[in-house]
Amino acid sequence: MSTSDTHLHIDNVSKTFGDVQALKGVDLEIKRGSFVCLLGPSGCGKTTLLRIIAGFENASSGHLMLDGIDISQMPPHKRGFGMVFQSLALFPHMSVAKNIAYGLKLRNISKAEQRNRVEELLNVIELPEIAERPVSALSGGQRQRVAIARALAIQPPLFLLDEPLSALDAKLRDNMQIELRQLQQKFGVTTILVTHDQHEAMMLADELVVLKDGEVYQSADPATVYQKPANSFVADFLGAANLVPAAVSKDGHVTVMGQEIACDTGQPVGTRLSAAMRAEHIGLVPVSMAKDHPVGAVKFLRDLGPATELVISVDGQDLRVRCDNATVPDLSIGAQVALSLDGSRLSVFRA
Ligand code: ATP
Repeated sequence: MSTSDTHLHIDNVSKTFGDVQALKGVDLEIKRGSFVCLLGPSGCGKTTLLRIIAGFENASSGHLMLDGIDISQMPPHKRGFGMVFQSLALFPHMSVAKNIAYGLKLRNISKAEQRNRVEELLNVIELPEIAERPVSALSGGQRQRVAIARALAIQPPLFLLDEPLSALDAKLRDNMQIELRQLQQKFGVTTILVTHDQHEAMMLADELVVLKDGEVYQSADPATVYQKPANSFVADFLGAANLVPAAVSKDGHVTVMGQEIACDTGQPVGTRLSAAMRAEHIGLVPVSMAKDHPVGAVKFLRDLGPATELVISVDGQDLRVRCDNATVPDLSIGAQVALSLDGSRLSVFRA
């Protein structure tokens, strides 16, 4: 049920291409002013969903409601959404100012108003000095900012982005993520971004929508998706959790790798589970100090600066562990070490 806070309601949207079912009954409430990231592996339907929102594709069934009005059949130009794609699609030989003003000119906005809007946006993207430079003479990051400014110049009700940063190198991409988030907050525009990069989605999103095989597997704020994944796919896709078999051993307790730990699952004794543990939630302790804890051998270790990344092999299963360098014990390849598990940090799913 939509509330007055809902800007866009994606109501039970499905899409088939021949015998491929790209989207299966997607239902999402997008809040006004929020930054939503559509995240998922290749082929999960992210771009199809964005194209349906933009109006480039029609849904096979379901509706799109913008402020309570059904826009499912409205052509893209009437929706007037701002869009940025990976290719940016700027006009290379036109100046920065003309690129930004392009959508305003199409809408017959007065010359004076165009000049004001372009000036304001150039200041926001901190590039006022390059207004007359052709886009072909800009760096990758500058082009990115111009594409964003051009999309926002028309004051769109929705701002749609499809992998806009994926062509940038890692450092520039990091900076642009911060800039994009700041710009979005400044304009308060409802934004939907497609990415397959979980780090990017975590950085940007108020609401993270994880898709797989055309279905929404979880939709929540990034912290909830990371800390309380709804299923083993989400646990593994976001932050590569260790997935191990577990079982309810007694009320409020599960057995994981031979150790019984307190963990309330609400399931009856004997229920077989799959437990997900984040690498940074597994502690390491000397074997002599940890009776009844699972013990494994160090198979790999790498000092990453602030933390050490390890692979510990426990009964033939490899577990990824990440320890703060202030607390990591002195270990070398082949050393035996005990694992300390925290039941409150475990996510369990029915096997
Ligand atoms: P990627 O991250 O690789 O871009 P995606 O999550 O954006 O993937 P989509 O491009 O939405 O995925 O595609 C979802 C499914 O629909 C895929 O199986 C794809 O092959 C199929 N598909 C998308 N567009 C078409 C089309 N025009 N005709 C036929 N099949 C299509």
